[in-house]
Amino acid sequence: MENKKELRNWLDAYQLDHPLVIAGPCSAETEEQVVRIAKDLKDTDANVLRAGIWKPRTRPGNFEGVGALGLKWLQTAKQETGMLTATEVANPNHVELALEHDVDILWIGARSTVSPFIIQDIAEACRGIKQPVLVKNPINPDLALWLGAVERFHTCNVENLGVIHRGFSTYEKTKYRNIPEWQIPIDLQAKFPDLPLILDPSHIAGRRDIIQDLCQTGLDLNFDGMIIETHYDPDNAWSDAKQQITPATLVQIMKDLKVRKEKGGSDAYEHALTELRSKIDITDEVIIQQLAKRMKIADEIGKVKAENNVQILQNDRWNSIRDRSISEGGQVGLSEEFITEVYNAIHQESIRHQHNIGK
Ligand code: PEP
Ligand code: MN
Repeated sequence: MENKKELRNWLDAYQLDHPLVIAGPCSAETEEQVVRIAKDLKDTDANVLRAGIWKPRTRPGNFEGVGALGLKWLQTAKQETGMLTATEVANPNHVELALEHDVDILWIGARSTVSPFIIQDIAEACRGIKQPVLVKNPINPDLALWLGAVERFHTCNVENLGVIHRGFSTYEKTKYRNIPEWQIPIDLQAKFPDLPLILDPSHIAGRRDIIQDLCQTGLDLNFDGMIIETHYDPDNAWSDAKQQITPATLVQIMKDLKVRKEKGGSDAYEHALTELRSKIDITDEVIIQQLAKRMKIADEIGKVKAENNVQILQNDRWNSIRDRSISEGGQVGLSEEFITEVYNAIHQESIRHQHNIGK
């Protein structure tokens, strides 16, 4: 697939004066719920109503969606509000049913993107359709797998395409439900600057309080839009209750977000600066997380040393860490003085941690 300006034709055709906003519940629950949320969203910045009809759950026993019946509710919501509709399709039958019910945008879930077999089947079912297909990243951080899925649709003559960044699964406990690994969408954007890139802060966050921050980062990184789970009664939602926000909160977030103007003129400078600062912030967050991880390991070492009554400062070990870091740093353009200072500070902190453990 080549990067071509045409990749964004479908989005340009909406003629929006702000980034695309897709909003709505994680799952369609009842007709009343879908229509009420659509009405709440109608006069906001939200352009498209989302609702999951078939829900891929990691473990059985959770709510698996209302099924085809819910498509009628989406149709009613569309008739009553004029909003476009979007839902997830995970097999050829879903595609057929969604199209029969005039769904305007189809998305591919993270659990489908991981499997080239499933993607191939869905892509064949979509052959030649004009409705945009938005491909969520796979649950594992693999850019090639993500792009491979997009290419399978492209090869089946689905020309209106986009991608959704919903974060990546990790075994580690972090503040996110799915870690953003921003470098991956940044790399994707560098390869395909004209492929619309949508942020899913809801599934990255897994909680409400950091949705706005994530949206701002997305905007600063030139994302083209957002898909945000929205429900009038988030706490009682049948799926993903913790991460859904109310339509009123959505309106407030949209008001508070700083949408940067198009590139050009003196704005170009601001634009470039904000984007670069955003990348610095993301990198700093990773550095802090990694330092914290390193200190946790130091704590473990402290425990082992205390149990075995071994002294904390082990000169040989420290010298070899320093030499290796200086050599690795040198290979990526970091000076010996800099690495020495940074590692001295890290080492001090490590020793302080181990002292506390030994007490
Ligand atoms: C969803 O959008 O509700 C969903 C199931 O998302 P994901 O495929 O990103 O987990
Ligand atoms: Mn969800």
